[in-house]
Amino acid sequence: MTDHYAVIGNPIEQSKSPLIHTAFAQVTGQDLDYTKVLSPLGEFAQTVDAFRAAGGLGMNVTAPFKLDAFAYATDLAPSAQMAGAVNAMKFEGDKVYAENFDGLGLVRDVVHNLQCPLQGRRVLILGAGGATRGALLPILAQGPAEVVIVNRTVAKAEELAQLACKHQSGAVPVHGVGYADLRARSFDVVFNATSASLTAQLPPLGASAFAPGCLAYELAYGKGLTPFLKLAQEAGVTRLADGVGMLAEQAAEAFEWWRGVRPDTAAVIRQLTVPLV
Ligand code: NDP
Repeated sequence: MTDHYAVIGNPIEQSKSPLIHTAFAQVTGQDLDYTKVLSPLGEFAQTVDAFRAAGGLGMNVTAPFKLDAFAYATDLAPSAQMAGAVNAMKFEGDKVYAENFDGLGLVRDVVHNLQCPLQGRRVLILGAGGATRGALLPILAQGPAEVVIVNRTVAKAEELAQLACKHQSGAVPVHGVGYADLRARSFDVVFNATSASLTAQLPPLGASAFAPGCLAYELAYGKGLTPFLKLAQEAGVTRLADGVGMLAEQAAEAFEWWRGVRPDTAAVIRQLTVPLV
């Protein structure tokens, strides 16, 4: 019997999740279909209820419903609690198990695919929105030397840093600052987790943020050389990456959670990669 999964969002046309999960199902021999569900705004719960009533077993959640899914869930994993948002749900009877795999996907891409260990590294994260919230604990679990969160709205960065310190008892120093506070400090890994690249904007970051040998990682994907990656390249950074691997790896985490088998992501990443030019 074919099992049913879907991604829910609004808009949803742009989602790559059906392509990714269909490819995963083929290579792992799983009998499932995976569709796109467009939910009207304000009708998330009704739309998910209908999907479950029709036998659906799980959903990925994309904008703008990650907070609605947080409210809808009956059982939130620590990753979802820390992120304050949900990107994957599993339905079992009355239970709605909820996870946020974005951070795990990011770390897996960086450490495993890009072969860039985070242990002992100085990490800078631009932005203090949902993606940063999701990424923080998985990044901290790698044991970096320190993590600095820099945000346009400084209070959000400070709040997130405090929350992270509480969660891991201060084992790794985490600071929340404004862009002006960075001065000439430099970092081994710089993540752009702002949404600036979606509108071809550049956060007010100085080129000195990139230490020699640094990895500059843009969480947005499919945009080629974004203003952030261009800044890094002009600063002499040769290790540039965008979020296509993160996208594939968070999908693989969800697939394994649903199906108990982990798909290889290399082919999907190759298929979805847009050259960074
Ligand atoms: P949010 O809307 O939750 O947060 C946006 C963040 O960007 C805020 O911190 C905001 O600052 C900051 N920001 C926006 N514009 C600018 C600007 N011009 N200059 C400086 N800072 C700016 O977005 P998300 O956290 O959900 O997403 C962030 C990025 O991560 C997006 O590019 C998204 O596509 C990507 N992403 C990629 C995934 C993947 O699988 N590859 C998964 C999830 C996200 P302020 O607080 O001051 O408003």
